[in-house]
Amino acid sequence: MQKFGGTSVADPDRIRAVADHVVATHNAGSEVCVVVSAMGKATDELVRLAHDVSKNPAGRELDMLLTAGERISMSLLCMAIIDRGVHAVSFTGSQAGIVTDTVHGKAKILEVKGDRIREVLAEGGIAVVAGFQGISTSRDITTLGRGGSDTTAVALAAALEAETCEIYTDVPGIFTADPRIVPNATKLERVSYDEMLEMAATGGRVLALRSVEFARNYGVPVHVRSSFTWEHGTWVVEEDPSMEQAVISGITHEASEAKVTITRVDDRPGVAARLFRALANSEINVDMIVQNVSTEGHTDISFTVPESDLARTIEVAEKIAGEVGASGVSQDSDIARVSVIGAGMRSNPGIAAQMFEVLSEEGVNILMISTSSIRISCVVRAGDVEKAVRSLHAAFGLDAE
Ligand code: ASP
Ligand code: MG
Repeated sequence: MQKFGGTSVADPDRIRAVADHVVATHNAGSEVCVVVSAMGKATDELVRLAHDVSKNPAGRELDMLLTAGERISMSLLCMAIIDRGVHAVSFTGSQAGIVTDTVHGKAKILEVKGDRIREVLAEGGIAVVAGFQGISTSRDITTLGRGGSDTTAVALAAALEAETCEIYTDVPGIFTADPRIVPNATKLERVSYDEMLEMAATGGRVLALRSVEFARNYGVPVHVRSSFTWEHGTWVVEEDPSMEQAVISGITHEASEAKVTITRVDDRPGVAARLFRALANSEINVDMIVQNVSTEGHTDISFTVPESDLARTIEVAEKIAGEVGASGVSQDSDIARVSVIGAGMRSNPGIAAQMFEVLSEEGVNILMISTSSIRISCVVRAGDVEKAVRSLHAAFGLDAE
């Protein structure tokens, strides 16, 4: 399985280069199924067009529109492959048998049939599939959410029992931090599914989160690499306990979150349940939650949400605040989150202490903290985040020599 992102197929030169590579893989004796994204910024342009003609584009029609982007790249790539003397057939998500639920704009894959792909491969051809799309159980065209082509590729790789899923992109792999902020960040040779999940969820932008969940659940080895240099990239695979690994694999950051606080809510059972049920019902993904110590029977509840959901969150929070007699709702979008990730954390105490010490030495104030068994995240002021990432990268020994 080979997947090519938008920059990898952005123009005719790129499409020809990809065709050369795909054909070379095929000629070397591999069965090749290819998934493509839309060319360059094509999807963004379609989204803009939709909002130009409609204040609130209907979900079904928006999905119908957006899937057109991948149709263009898949058919162009097939033409280029056929020119090189190899049989190639393109398929939409629907034709490939990618069946999803009915949630337009962020549909979940329920089943991957792949019969027509198997037929083409059996004929000795190359199958090219449009990423990011499927057909719902009620027979409408759906999309999987932005960046969803990664998920198409991994799901198809699992269904076809592909040896590997190569994700070709415009960076050489997964780095220990964002190289735009940390110039001496280094490329990781390998990273475990769990670490990659934490990275994707906390600001690592190379792989879509859902594709990593799929890869882990089905054990698909993923190789993230560059279609510009074609060099060896980063393997995302099962954790190998026999390998001596650095304690920390990477530092991620995310600036697109906002903090919401509900002040002076009654400290009694059921208040948090009511608030977070209402947020969940509005499809708002809450990340960190902090409830402070109760004073005189009252407590404050703070949580973070994606900035894009802030307006809706405030609406819901104010409604619930009124119902439970809280004194108010405040918001702060001038925050960012920095996370330290590493499977080695499980067996190495003191990582949290070290992280907080580093931040304190840099004069960075911590607003909120959350952890998993292999991640520690701190919410800090947005203006402090780059300094925080750089100093943590150095302190945990990740800087290149
Ligand atoms: N073309 C879609 C997007 O831009 C899907 C993808 O590229 O993965 O979000
Ligand atoms: Mg992408």
